[in-house]
Amino acid sequence: MKDRTLLMIPGPIEFEPDVLQALGAPTTSHVAPEFIEIFGQALERMREVWQAPTGQPLILAGSGTLAMDVVGANLIEPGDHALVLSTGTFGDRFEDLLSRYGAAVTVIRVPAGETIDFDEVDQVLDRGDFKLMTGTHVDTSTAVRIDAKRFGELGRTHKVLTVLDGVCSVAGEEILQGEWCLDVVLTASQKAIGVPPGLALLVVSERALVAWESRTSKVTSYYADWGKWLPVMEAYEKRQPSYFGTPAVNLICALHVSLGQILAEGMDARFARHAAIGAACRAGLKALGLGQVPTNDGHAANTLSAPRYPSGISAGDLLPRVRQAGAILAGGLHDQIKSEYFRIGHMGAVKPGDLLSTIGAIEAGLRAAGHCFELGAGVAASQQVLANV
Ligand code: PMP
Repeated sequence: MKDRTLLMIPGPIEFEPDVLQALGAPTTSHVAPEFIEIFGQALERMREVWQAPTGQPLILAGSGTLAMDVVGANLIEPGDHALVLSTGTFGDRFEDLLSRYGAAVTVIRVPAGETIDFDEVDQVLDRGDFKLMTGTHVDTSTAVRIDAKRFGELGRTHKVLTVLDGVCSVAGEEILQGEWCLDVVLTASQKAIGVPPGLALLVVSERALVAWESRTSKVTSYYADWGKWLPVMEAYEKRQPSYFGTPAVNLICALHVSLGQILAEGMDARFARHAAIGAACRAGLKALGLGQVPTNDGHAANTLSAPRYPSGISAGDLLPRVRQAGAILAGGLHDQIKSEYFRIGHMGAVKPGDLLSTIGAIEAGLRAAGHCFELGAGVAASQQVLANV
């Protein structure tokens, strides 16, 4: 029987066949005219997907952490004050990262499951002299979303650069980078962008570029220096060959296809699909008697869910059984609650049928693990939500 196990972790995800075909095509030269066209178009498409008409897109070989590192390397000088808003593991990562570049870091950290209170952020910004603040749009360790629009607005009001970690949100949760005044929105290819792991993607505002140009000290990372990469990105957009480090040719061809698919779906339709599937997933889990890490549905992510195990059932009892029933899920990640919950990714090419299969597989796993519930209740609740959108 064909193996149809669904990869429903929060990245990497299931990829579209056309994207994988582009990835598997014979590799061309990074300065071949047809590749220059593809690279140039990919940069232009990023601007549309990020909704950042005046932003500078960057495509680098690396993972999401490189995209974060690029921010620290280019926008922090020793002694700069930075504010980190942390709703989980990936928020905390920015504290460590920015301090390595010499930033004095203040952290607003909330307990796992809670979101950021922007009135508090407003007050902290009033009192401090911050150059930059970071926020994790969706922290993949808690499935908590922050209000990215308010985040951008506060940055603009207080004249603080805003860096949104959108690794688990770009092309899944609504982001209007230009309108919301976000200075950097970064992500990685393997999530809602829909391309296998290997690309770090950023769109940078003019304001952030001015801050970078005004540095008084040299960027200490050689590879991450915008000074090396901006001329390359500008050249490809002008359809001219350029070189600093060899680009990930096949991944960029795959990105070009995926961005085309995303734009063909339409950003609003794509956000609405993610919202419907997110709501359907939460309803299905609730009907099975499972709690969730986010303390409120209003700030629960649409790109992944973080259900809690029923009492008496552990990761080892459940996840292998769900896998046997057809869906690969992820365990907990947040240090303080790791053993208490698991994670379901539902972003990118995910379809309603994938979600229903996943909820069905969770039901099969729960039943085999001895959890008491009405068989089919989860799938029915998810169906109900999907039928009403
Ligand atoms: N930020 C967030 C919100 C993430 O989910 C991840 C990856 N799970 C990262 C940053 C780091 O990305 P990568 O694993 O691609 O380095």
